[in-house]
Amino acid sequence: MALVVPTFTYEPVVNHSGTFRPIGLALHSCEGDGSQYGWFNDPAAQASSNLWAGKAGGRQQYVSADMAAWAQSAGNYTYLSLEVEGFGTPHWVNGVLEPPEPLTDAQLDTVAYALRWGHDTFGWPLRVTDTPGEGGLICHGYPTSDGGFAGRPDWGGHPCPGRTRSDQRAEIVKRAGGAGVALSGNTPASTDAVKAMQAQLNQVGVPGFTPLAVDGGYGPATTSAVSGFQRGMRLPVDGVAGPQTLAVLRALIASRDPWHLWDTMPTLKQGDQGPSVKRLQNGLNRTGTPKPLLIADGDFGPATFTAVEKLQTNLHVHIDGIVGSQTLTLIRHVLTVYGADPRSL
Ligand SMILES: [Zn+2]
Repeated sequence: MALVVPTFTYEPVVNHSGTFRPIGLALHSCEGDGSQYGWFNDPAAQASSNLWAGKAGGRQQYVSADMAAWAQSAGNYTYLSLEVEGFGTPHWVNGVLEPPEPLTDAQLDTVAYALRWGHDTFGWPLRVTDTPGEGGLICHGYPTSDGGFAGRPDWGGHPCPGRTRSDQRAEIVKRAGGAGVALSGNTPASTDAVKAMQAQLNQVGVPGFTPLAVDGGYGPATTSAVSGFQRGMRLPVDGVAGPQTLAVLRALIASRDPWHLWDTMPTLKQGDQGPSVKRLQNGLNRTGTPKPLLIADGDFGPATFTAVEKLQTNLHVHIDGIVGSQTLTLIRHVLTVYGADPRSL
C-alpha cells in the first residue's frame, strides 16, 4: 500500500529500493524540463525520486513516501527525494549560456507542502540543514566555505540543485510554517501552511466552532477558531498561530494518533524489557509470523529475536533482529493491511 503525499499524482515507477522512514527531504534539480516518469521507469536509468515539482505547479509522485528512491546514493535511505523541474545551474539554450532558473512560486509552494506533510507525518524539523543525517530540508550539494557550491562525494558528487535553488530553501521552510513564522490574517503566509493548520484545527475540533473551510484563507473564522483553540489550551490568546500555538496543535494531534505509541517506540533489541517490547510482541503475533505465537511478556528473548529476523527476511529488509524505525514502520504496514487496531497492542 503506497504512502502517497496528498495533492500529488501517484505514478509508480520500477526504480526504487525497500521501505524506510525518512528523516527529511532532499531537494534535487532535474536539469531539464518535463515529467521524469519515463526516465525513472526505465531500469537502465538507475535513477528515481519520490516526488517531482513542475514549474507550473504540477505535482507527481513516483515512489511511495516510505520507500527509498535512487536520488542521492548514500542518502537514499535517509531522505525522501524531490526533483524540481528546470535548470538550477547555468545551461546552454540555442548557443546562449542561460543563468540558473530560480524555483517558481508554484514550486516553492509544492516543496513547502511536501516538507510540511513530512513534518506532520514523520516529525521532520522545519529547517534547512546541510548536515547529512540531520532532519530537515537538505540538498545534494552544499555551500562551501569559500563561497562555492560542491556536491557531496558519497551522494554522487553533483552540485545539485545549484546555489540559487539551494538558497531558496529558507523561503520553503518559511512557507511550510517553520520556526519563527506566525500564520495570521495580517501577514503574507503560505496558503498551504494555512490549509494544513485549518485541517488540523478541524481534526482536533475547537469547542463552539463549526469546522473551518480548508481554503488557505486566514479570515475572521480562522482567526476566531485559533483564538478559541488558544483559550482552550491556556495559551496567550491573539488569534495568531505562532510557533507555540502550532507546536501545541501538532502535539495534540500526534497524541490522538492511534499509532502514536507504536511510532514513538525506541529501538528494541534482544535483552530489552518493558511495555514497548510487549507491544512489539503483540504486533508480531498479529502479523502471524511467529509460530508458535510469542508469549507477550515484555521480555525480548531468543524467540522474539527469531520472529523479528523471520519478518525482516520475508519483507526483504536488512536482517539483524533489531527493531529500529524501518522495521517498526514495516510491521505497522503489515498490521494496517490486516486491519489491526493499534490500541489493542
Ligand atoms: Zn540532486
